[in-house]
Amino acid sequence: MIVAPLGSGSAGNAYYFESDGTAILVDAGLGPRDTKKRLEAVGLEIEMLRAIVLTHEHYDHIRGAEKIARKYSIPIYLTRGTLDASAIERIETPLVLFENNSTFTIGELAVHARRTIHDAADPACFVIEARDGTRVGLASDLGYVDEPVLKHLQNCDGLFFESNHDLDMLRMGTYPWSLKRRIMSRFGHLSNDDSMLAVQRMIGADLKTLCLIHLSQKNNHESIVRDMAARLLARTGAQLELGIALQEAPAVYQVSRRGRRAATPRAVGAQMALF
Ligand SMILES: [Zn+2]
Ligand SMILES: [Zn+2]
Repeated sequence: MIVAPLGSGSAGNAYYFESDGTAILVDAGLGPRDTKKRLEAVGLEIEMLRAIVLTHEHYDHIRGAEKIARKYSIPIYLTRGTLDASAIERIETPLVLFENNSTFTIGELAVHARRTIHDAADPACFVIEARDGTRVGLASDLGYVDEPVLKHLQNCDGLFFESNHDLDMLRMGTYPWSLKRRIMSRFGHLSNDDSMLAVQRMIGADLKTLCLIHLSQKNNHESIVRDMAARLLARTGAQLELGIALQEAPAVYQVSRRGRRAATPRAVGAQMALF
């Protein structure tokens, strides 16, 4: 499966998944032109998209959804709660509702949705499964990782998981106290420490690619997250590909089932190797 984080963080999130000729965008927090440009930068095409799937209604995840859906005549998959909490236009925009804690299919991809804990109406994380059984988990905007979400994301071949902030940087930083409290709450975002604790529990024998996502630009740094993750991998003895998704630099990963030879990536972009 090709997985391409096009942008990750509070200024816009979009993740491209493709397998067996079906491509979807999970979250569309970048405008149509930017999304197209970033896909092209890593050798992918926006015309391949069959659907947009939304995690929740926050602006950094849906900003471009309506425009992209209409421009390319593709549906937006979202929960009723996300739709009701968003300003997405309902008549002209093709919409498909899905229930949290259920599985639906888009072309050759199965999407397993699980409800997450965050200050949104009905937020979801996903495991995207290819026809050959390759499973890739994507979860960000988590105030807290509960057992059902942990279980949901176990046994993945690829895991794209939030590591939002360094607690000291957040505490000492310039954000108003109310915002700091919201980020740190059970309905906010995962600190690096909490993220690593969760990842430690999700590293299974199958996991081949780990990418940390939705890093705060003000209260985190790529090098901090990379060091923490590298230490965790050393401690657990896990041998896997490690990446950090950035706000401005798209990247491409080829995730295949462990033990299988990775198919040659169809597209190799300039940002291919983040590890
Ligand atoms: Zn977000
Ligand atoms: Zn959010």
